[in-house]
Formats: sequence, structure tokens, C-alpha cells
Amino acid sequence: MLGQLFRALDKHYDEMVEIRRHLHQYPELSFQEVKTAKFIAQYYERLGIPVQTNVGGNGVIATLEGKRPGKTVAFRADFDALPIQDEKDVPYKSKVPGVMHACGHDAHTATLLVFAKVLQQFQDELPGTVVFVHQHAEELTPGGAISIVQSGALDHIDVIFGNHLWSTLPLGTVSLRHDALMAGADRFQITIYGEGGHGAYPEDTKDALVIGAEIVAKLQTIVSRKISPVDTGVVTVGRFQAGTGFNIIANEAVLEGTIRYFKNAVKKKMKEELYRIVKGVCLANDATYKIDYTDGYPPVINHKDEAELIFEAAKIVPGVNSVLEAPLQMGAEDFSYYLHDKPGAFFFTGAGKEGENHPHHHPLFDIDERSMLIAAKTFAAAFIKYQEKEKTSRT
Ligand code: MN
Repeated sequence: MLGQLFRALDKHYDEMVEIRRHLHQYPELSFQEVKTAKFIAQYYERLGIPVQTNVGGNGVIATLEGKRPGKTVAFRADFDALPIQDEKDVPYKSKVPGVMHACGHDAHTATLLVFAKVLQQFQDELPGTVVFVHQHAEELTPGGAISIVQSGALDHIDVIFGNHLWSTLPLGTVSLRHDALMAGADRFQITIYGEGGHGAYPEDTKDALVIGAEIVAKLQTIVSRKISPVDTGVVTVGRFQAGTGFNIIANEAVLEGTIRYFKNAVKKKMKEELYRIVKGVCLANDATYKIDYTDGYPPVINHKDEAELIFEAAKIVPGVNSVLEAPLQMGAEDFSYYLHDKPGAFFFTGAGKEGENHPHHHPLFDIDERSMLIAAKTFAAAFIKYQEKEKTSRT
């Protein structure tokens, strides 16, 4: 059956490309993906596959019931875009100024839609149930995954798989890990309230810029001095705003940044240290402060057996020449929420374009579209292998 599925997917490759290029031209920002959600829902309606809309927001979930007994397997694709101006010179360039599918979520969507269409052609022989999870708002916390999980729409599934096409990984490579794969990511904003004044008379002021600079430097010691060298963490200050003129002492300073981690104990420690440093430096400088700390996506932790299943599945996909243990990624993904509740695995499919690779979220980002076919075939192989494995474990 798997060979037939592969051949059917090959036959629909052109449609995958067509859908991806359509979506690429009409990207929508996180939580605003109304037209994209409608496009997805209509695709299922035309196929006669039952579909639920507005799941936890703009989420769309379709369900295909095979005619043979088996488990319920979910596959997830996200569909939001980013606030980036598309600077590629291609016919399918974004038609929406300042908005771009610069992370490949258009291709994730095309992959899942065509995968569904092909599976439907085999409905009579298909074991179990397939749930196609089209998720909105992956790029912006709190994200769409948490609300889809909380809606209860996935309570009945047995397992969930997700794929991310990856432009800096060569075509033909699939990579993942058996445990932690992507980091947890929090966000902080620190406002320092000093007392401004004339640049010539610092003795009459509390220089918020100098205090901010001290905090930025001290925050760097969290990872180097407070976290065990064998653990992994990042503290990055990405924005520092203070001052209005060369001879004016800053009244206020704002620092914004992110904390990344894999272990909750490490996160807790980094957060505590951040609060302590800000408190201590402000106390020493007689200034006051406010900290806004936002817990972001938890780390993506794959389940061992399901990750192994993807390793095995990817190895039998035509066009895959390398299945690798991925390095730990400090990037984050809200696929983590699905894996809290259910077994499953998330993996990367190489989508590197020969000669002109740009990283994700880059204004020239693009993918080798053949990666969609590899991702769809890996889904197909994982589905069949999972049903076979579960059948064997039942008998
Ligand atoms: Mn992404």
C-alpha cells in the first residue's frame, strides 16, 4: 500500500506546488489568517472530508475515517505568515506588502492538503482514522496550538506528528531527535525608571542608560556563571532603548529580550537570576524598575518510540538519502503543546535550494519545493508503520 501511496503522491506533486504558490502570494499574519483558513476548509469540503472550522481560533481540523480498524493519527501543519517584505523576484512573490511566508508554513499546508487528498483515494483500505490539524498562529505567542489543544478537538487522537521544512538543511535530509529537539522560549521586558537631566550635571540624575548597560552586561553572567556548563541556555537582550539626545541623561531605559532553555529547572533558575540582577542593580543605583515576563512556548520534547518511528519511516522514503540526529535547536515551536498531552514527534525535512540558501525569516527565504513531496511521503510511511506496529502490539 505504501508504494501505491508514494506513486499517488508523485502524481499530485504539481498540485502541491500550485497550492503552495497560491498561498505564498496571499500570506496572512498570525491570528488574522481568515482567508487561508477558508481556503483550507473549502479544499476539504470539495473532497467531502468532514471539517471543523474555528477550532481554538482560526484552526481547521479535518477527519478522514478509514474503512479498516486502527488508531487515530494526527498530522499538523501551521499556516500563518510573518511581518516581512518579500524581496524575492519570482512569479509567486507575496502580493501583500510587508507580509510574507518566510518560514515555509504555506508549504506545510500544501503538503498536508494533498496528503489528505491522496489518503482519501485509499479510504477503503485505510486502517484507522487520520486527523489533519491545520494550525493558525505559530509565529506569535500565545500561539494557536495551545488553544487547539484546550478546545478538546484532539482529545481522542492516539498520536501526533509534525514536520518543519528547513531551508538550511539539504534536500534529501530528514533530521530529528529522540527527546528534546527545540528550546523553550520566554520573553522579558525590563523598564528602568531613573531620573533624567542635563548631560553636564550627572550628579543630579539617575542615569537610566548607564543602569541599563550594567544590567545588559550582568545578564550575560547568568549562563556563564549560574548555569551548569553541561546545561543549555540563552539570555539575549535584543532591544535596548534609552535616551533622546547627546547632552541629555536618559530618564528611562527599556530592555527586551528572550530566555531559551530545555529543562524547566534551568528556566526557573535563569528567570530568578534575571529578577535578582535587575533588583540588585537598580537598588545599587537608587532606581526603580518594572519587569514584564512572558512565558512562551515550552520546549519541543519528542517521544522516543514515535521519534524512532519517524527515523524508520524516513529511511524508506524515495529521495531521502540521509536521516540524521538533529543538533539541539535553540529556536522554539508551539508543537510542544501537542506533545505535552499526546505521544508524537516533530521532525525537520531538508528544503535547501541549491546555490541560494537563505535562513528562515529572511526576506529572500525560499524552499526547494520537492521537499514537500518528501515530507508527505514521510507522513505516509509513518502512518502505515504506526498502524502496523499498533496492530502487532494488539495481537
Ligand atoms: Mn515555522
